[in-house]
Amino acid sequence: MNVTFHGVRGSTPCHGDDTRHFGGNTSCVSLRVPQQVPIIFDLGTGLRYFGKQFNGTPAFRAVCLLTHLHYDHTLGLPFFEPLLHSDTTLEIYGPKQADGSSIRELFLDKIKPPMFPVPLADFAARVIFHEIGDDDFAIGDLQICSRFVPHIGPTLGFRVTHDGASVTYLSDHQQPVGGEFTISKGAHELCQGADLLIHDAQFTNEEFAGKSSWGHSTYAYAQWIAETCEVKQLALFHHDPSRTDAMLTELTEKVARTSKTRVVAAREGESIDVVTCSA
Ligand SMILES: [Zn+2]
Ligand SMILES: [Zn+2]
Repeated sequence: MNVTFHGVRGSTPCHGDDTRHFGGNTSCVSLRVPQQVPIIFDLGTGLRYFGKQFNGTPAFRAVCLLTHLHYDHTLGLPFFEPLLHSDTTLEIYGPKQADGSSIRELFLDKIKPPMFPVPLADFAARVIFHEIGDDDFAIGDLQICSRFVPHIGPTLGFRVTHDGASVTYLSDHQQPVGGEFTISKGAHELCQGADLLIHDAQFTNEEFAGKSSWGHSTYAYAQWIAETCEVKQLALFHHDPSRTDAMLTELTEKVARTSKTRVVAAREGESIDVVTCSA
């Protein structure tokens, strides 16, 4: 399984010399397995860069596993070039809403004038929505596990397993607001024994003290989850837009020095190969 980061920021895109190394686009990660449909975790602004490589690919098909509807996870959708082609099919698996609203209707309502010049319904491609919750299902030969996780509003985490290897994507994850290290049953099911865990690491402990109910995690909490759940590799993700390359390098090295798990900071354009049993 090949995992590539196209957008690694949380909250809002950022740009400039201070963030050039790790990149400024918001959450979008692709997972590729030969002979299988490409999986896209989230539709942040990084999606535009993922889409460029498929421009002109006939009968392009992809599946998005969408954690939630916040702008930083959805803003890239109308800039995804394959949507301009009538033989493209994009299936989006997103979280059931607590009030019963349809996520298809919510997208149609957001991507239209006056907020966007072209209604989503007028794009040439087929965009199919599936509403999911705590579910286990298959996409081709990939086993997908989705679980609701603590954040703000209905939010899913995902685990994709293929041929004995697994990747867990937990982009936006609320650490308990009191700062304690406990984990929900659903998040635990997603993380236990994963080969790669991509996890929210938006805040330092100092920042968390003033923003503990903002829906995110500290570096220390991400490290604790990775160790507690015996994850093989941790990719720190959903970097705060104010986090400079220098700060992120220093914070990642600090975690890596004390961690029993291999730790990296997710960086735009970089890939991680997760070895499967048959590889
Ligand atoms: Zn986010
Ligand atoms: Zn969010």
